[in-house]
Amino acid sequence: MSLFRRKKQDEPPPPPPPTPMIEEVSAQQYQLKLAYMGRSSDGLRMSADPAVVRALPEIVEPLSTTRVEVIAPLPLEYSDATPAMERFNEMQQWVLARRDISPIGRHALYVLELTDTLDMTVDTFATGLLHGETDTSGYPDYNAIVGGLASHFDELSGELIVRAVVGWGGKGQRGDTERIGQRLLSALYQQVLASGYSLGAAEQARLPMGASRGAGLTCMHCGFEAQTASAFYCPKCGMRMHG
Ligand SMILES: [Zn+2]
Repeated sequence: MSLFRRKKQDEPPPPPPPTPMIEEVSAQQYQLKLAYMGRSSDGLRMSADPAVVRALPEIVEPLSTTRVEVIAPLPLEYSDATPAMERFNEMQQWVLARRDISPIGRHALYVLELTDTLDMTVDTFATGLLHGETDTSGYPDYNAIVGGLASHFDELSGELIVRAVVGWGGKGQRGDTERIGQRLLSALYQQVLASGYSLGAAEQARLPMGASRGAGLTCMHCGFEAQTASAFYCPKCGMRMHG
């Protein structure tokens, strides 16, 4: 009797009944469509005279609905900073480097750096809200247009290279934003020409993006590492690279 019982207990449990095959599980979908647009004019050459540098925000002023903010290139210790969320350490640098900038300026950097319209390792950016509204905390709506003038120094001539830049985007899109953005870009460019400071079109609108830095000279004034050993002027601060 006891032997029989033990034998029964040792037997493996019966396999579970087969699970019926489910063709499709019911599901809810969550989706976020983000779109950011940045647009830049060709570069215009200007004299690197400090008076000209100071005039750039005044050129933006008549087209901006808000105070024009001048955002300096990233300090050397934050040169890897980026607003891209997935690069967490670089984004922390960006937050630290840009903590004193207004919500409008920060939105402008976010849109224009993510789209590579600006290179804030060298660009100085005079910017404001050009079109549209902000929310109650001061951040521009997706269809608001931010922009202004980005400038850096030409490595060979030392001249100031100025670009008109606009951007918009976020959760949504509106049909007329593109057209208004283009109109504002043209207006900014015209405004630079009308200032009388322009010396003509720049051969190269901007520095080649993504090239490895550190291949050339280091600026003894701001520490910027130029991409080529043939650079005479620092693209970031405009001072002579050597001597
Ligand atoms: Zn420098």
